Amino acid sequence: MKNWDLLEADENLILTKHFTPGRAGTINKIVLHHNAGNLTIQGCYNVWQYREASAHYQVQSDGRVGQLVWDCDTAWHAGDANANATSIGIEHADHHANPWLISDECLENGAHLVAALCKYYKLGRPQWMKNVFPHSYFSATECPASIAGSQNAAYMKRAQEWYDAMTKGNTPAKPAAPSKPASKPASKPTTNLNALADAVIRGEYGNGDERRRRLGGNYDAVMKIVNQKFGASSAPARPAKKSVDTIAQEVINGAWGNGDDRRRRLEAAGYNFNEVQNVVNRKLGAASARPSRVTLDDVARAVIRGDYGNGDERRRRIEAAGYNYNSVQARVNQLL
Ligand SMILES: [Zn+2]
Repeated sequence: MKNWDLLEADENLILTKHFTPGRAGTINKIVLHHNAGNLTIQGCYNVWQYREASAHYQVQSDGRVGQLVWDCDTAWHAGDANANATSIGIEHADHHANPWLISDECLENGAHLVAALCKYYKLGRPQWMKNVFPHSYFSATECPASIAGSQNAAYMKRAQEWYDAMTKGNTPAKPAAPSKPASKPASKPTTNLNALADAVIRGEYGNGDERRRRLGGNYDAVMKIVNQKFGASSAPARPAKKSVDTIAQEVINGAWGNGDDRRRRLEAAGYNFNEVQNVVNRKLGAASARPSRVTLDDVARAVIRGDYGNGDERRRRIEAAGYNYNSVQARVNQLL
């Protein structure tokens, strides 16, 4: 941090979406998260461009702290609207997977940040489950992994040492015995595979290779549960058995939503978004498989030619092809 007392982060990389401006409540707690990966501040920013999530701070493995949502705004991190409205969310990078562990530098500055926030917002001395909570307290998730497990005691002890020092205006002694970075905990932590599967379905573990990498040794067991959950849901058939053509038609019919929502839902159900979208575009006669290369004018002219039909059908087909109906219609009106 540039200034712990004033909560000035090393770097401000403020999101423009996936948070709520302002707050419906008063800050009374801190919620801790882990990345389930070793992300940088920029890495978090990139993920939150498409994932509908955010947190106020990210602490990197080298201890560098970034602010991504201002404290006065509501970040989407706890999976609980009331908790989001009344908390500050801090993400921590994992420098070790299987089991997840944060680095000494990340622990030191994460704990220091907790202390600084408790002081600044007058939340009192940091205490676990009193003013500092794990994400898993509010949602079915394994987050924040070791921070609520093997590293919790060290993290909270350090947060209290920093709080005591900061309220007296000094600096605490260095931690007595920093943990060895690669040391494994004596007992294997138990993993809640069911909670992991729910997190996968919510999109917290990405897709494809990224999902495989982040789930590590739990991948097969977790994906088995994910598939069971889809098979047992109210869906008429197991989604993975439908052909790309069938899914594309469902997309055109509006069954899979639009934009980021469509991508997330298709990927969560095990489909390749680009593959499906290409078929959708082909079926709709879109000029190119990449909507970004088609200008608004191209689409507006296609609408005027009658390629997109009229009324509700036009809206549905324009949105199914990934365009904003209102922007297209406004341009159509101008051209006419
Ligand atoms: Zn979390």
